[in-house]
Amino acid sequence: MLLFCFVIGALMAATCGFVYSIFVSSARAELDRDLVEAARPLIARLGGESRVSDLGLREQMLLVFDEDGQLLNRSENADSAVSTRIWPLPGKRVEEFRTLNAPGGRARAALIPFESDHRPLWLVVVQPTTDIEYSEWQFRDTLFGIWVLSLLLTAAIAAWYVGSALRPITDLTRRVAGISETISQSGQGDALEPLPIVNPNDEVGQLAATFNLLFRQVNAVVRQLRQFVSDASHELRTPLSVLRGETHYLIEQERTPQEYRATLRIIDGELAALTRIIEGLFTLSMADAGQLRLNLEPVYLDEVLEEACGVATPIARRKSISIERSVWNEVPFAGDQALLRQLFLILLENAIKYSLPGTIISVTMVVERGRPYVSVRDQGMGIAREHLPHIFERFYRAGPDPNEESRSGGLGLAIAQAIINAHGGTINCKSKVGEGSEFFLAFPAAAASVVQEPVQKLV
Ligand code: ADP
Repeated sequence: MLLFCFVIGALMAATCGFVYSIFVSSARAELDRDLVEAARPLIARLGGESRVSDLGLREQMLLVFDEDGQLLNRSENADSAVSTRIWPLPGKRVEEFRTLNAPGGRARAALIPFESDHRPLWLVVVQPTTDIEYSEWQFRDTLFGIWVLSLLLTAAIAAWYVGSALRPITDLTRRVAGISETISQSGQGDALEPLPIVNPNDEVGQLAATFNLLFRQVNAVVRQLRQFVSDASHELRTPLSVLRGETHYLIEQERTPQEYRATLRIIDGELAALTRIIEGLFTLSMADAGQLRLNLEPVYLDEVLEEACGVATPIARRKSISIERSVWNEVPFAGDQALLRQLFLILLENAIKYSLPGTIISVTMVVERGRPYVSVRDQGMGIAREHLPHIFERFYRAGPDPNEESRSGGLGLAIAQAIINAHGGTINCKSKVGEGSEFFLAFPAAAASVVQEPVQKLV
């Protein structure tokens, strides 16, 4: 604001200075013209030998010099002090104008060459500049007054305009500062109340709308984080409290070897569950940070799937569940073998876990337009429609876990999704309660640069 006033003031001062200099130079030019106009009839009359003292001019002083600077003649109002200030005469015989510092004040002199009886002479017409200086002084004062007034007016208008234009932003800043203070005092993310929007179409309204969008997203993330922390602590608390209970049971008194063995088996199971949850959390946090490092190598996807089925078969057999495969041979892919195996195992273990004995799990792999597709279908309990959109969320459970031993703490499908996404693929689920579920994996086409040469198929 100060800078703005300073710049405007300087610009106006420059403009006033320019106008003043034009005024002064045109007044001087006008005076010079007047002097020449006044001299012309005088020169005509001087030709007839009349003395300048006889010419009777009141305003101007007249002096006549010869070529050598000798004063020949002067009017009565011209004193000798003026005549000495005229000297020296111009070298060339052309009109010249001079400003003199005469004793009575400053004066303007026009030196005009003329001839009288073929004798070269100079007529000097001198006029005091008091009147002109007075007008110039008045004009300067008026300009200065106009400059001060305009500057004050500009400053007042600018202050009013800037104040009213910035008021909504100031209000917005105050509100956002208030919100941030509330958060720092209460530590609650939900304190991000939306900002009021006066006019959604102007810039400030759009800024407030952008803030509100940001607030909504931050609120959602904070809610998610809280949910995550609460779910994670709940999941970790369960095996930990079992572990504490079992160790207390052993510490309390001497137990029989059978009791020791049984309790240690429980402890081992709980430790395995804990490890699975912590490893799952680690994998997911790496995926969130975009740091799920894939050890990409040329693999045959059908072999990795076969391997996972091999691991799952004994578990399935224990429940009298059979795994049927319909898998394309030699499906090359560039991927992380260990993670891909984990991905298939998650789907297979879930299919076993949520199916009744005597059912069949069908595993299919096809390749269409270079893209491998895998489907794992079971004849299990199925997933209710309202749960389907959430099953890939962390710690989400559509129902109670029927198999305590293999529980992943509700992280299995979230990890599966992170793995397939990291490979550039997608996962989907189709399910019907009482009929079973089918999980689809769609892989991208294998990158030719990674799958360099065919890998020997294992038998
Ligand atoms: P977890 O199996 O450890 O509970 P997941 O993330 O693997 O966690 O699965 C999330 C939820 O999805 C499970 O709790 C279960 O309700 C449901 N679900 C997953 N796979 C199946 C399946 N094959 N059949 C029925 N429900 C399933």
